[in-house]
Amino acid sequence: MNAFDIEKLVRPNVREMAPYSSARDEFEGEAQIYLDANENSLGSASKELFNRYPDPRQNLLRARVAELKGVKAEQLFFGNGSDEPIDLLFRAFCQPQKDRALIFPPTYGMYKVQANINDTPIDEIPLNDDFSLPLEKIQEVVNPQIKLMFICSPNNPSGNLISKSTIIDILSCFKGIVVVDEAYIDFTASDASLVSEIENYPNLVVLQTFSKAWGLAGLRLGMAFAQKPLIDILNKIKYPYNINQLTQQLVLEALNNETTKNQMVQTLINERKTLEKELVKNNAVQKIYPSDANFLLVRIEKANLFYKELTDSGIIVRNRSNVALCDNCLRITVGTPDENQTLLKQMQKISDKLRVKNKL
Ligand SMILES: *Cc1c(COP(=O)(O)O)cnc(C)c1O
Repeated sequence: MNAFDIEKLVRPNVREMAPYSSARDEFEGEAQIYLDANENSLGSASKELFNRYPDPRQNLLRARVAELKGVKAEQLFFGNGSDEPIDLLFRAFCQPQKDRALIFPPTYGMYKVQANINDTPIDEIPLNDDFSLPLEKIQEVVNPQIKLMFICSPNNPSGNLISKSTIIDILSCFKGIVVVDEAYIDFTASDASLVSEIENYPNLVVLQTFSKAWGLAGLRLGMAFAQKPLIDILNKIKYPYNINQLTQQLVLEALNNETTKNQMVQTLINERKTLEKELVKNNAVQKIYPSDANFLLVRIEKANLFYKELTDSGIIVRNRSNVALCDNCLRITVGTPDENQTLLKQMQKISDKLRVKNKL
């Protein structure tokens, strides 16, 4: 194992700073009268009461989710979506204009956006043609200036799971932090996640979210899993009350409905398979990439035209044709069975129409 020293990796200003201490940090017990946080003691101008600040550490929710995921509560951080831990990782570990981050396009756009906001130069190594990780190239390129590396698995927009053993090889030799974004992990086999590896690798951060399989994108709750020293750093620099009261309440409720989540996942996987089977019959479709997620990346003749025609008919998909390795590709989210049937019919119509035009 490489010697990984988080104290050396963290930005000096973050290492030295004292975090904000909120009223609720300083007094955590139960009391009869709370006059410590300048809240409105009379109530709220809404039907439900929200006049009290929420738990800054989300202790109830954290205990429940930690149990569900098989980690200790101290190894779990909640963010306002996964976007928050991505931003905090840059703020904690990358000195602007000096430290660098590594990404593997085509991938999720937020890594680069957050790098830009934080004035962190980005290095890019394209994935292989089959969207697997180019391990040898990574080993050639990594250097001490690279503090963060983002691996998205299953990858957005290609949909494929990244080989676990490749990620473990990288974890063993890279001295910076490896962030594995598992937003779509619930759509894969149960042993695909790297959460169980956080015990073994102090430089591993796994991101998950309630936005996809749980169907709670509107509540904004993301998770980061890592060893305690790394989680402590995220807690040190987060906004004190980053997860609002309503989100904490409603996600706690949703956790009682895990079966509903599992049923939705199963339906979406079945629908993905149906979509795939039907789409190959469309003459304009050139390739459907194997997916471990709730979407399909589809290479199609004249993708831009297809995209426009679909949009005109009221169906919005994601046009990825301008993205590396995704020439003429549309990313299609699996919808309800009815939505998928409408999409298939419309795509056949467009295909017929374009074909007639081509012949003229
Ligand atoms: C959808 C998605 C997320 C989720 O982001 P939230 O901020 O948690 O909603 C994260 N990563 C990837 C790759 C995604 O596609």
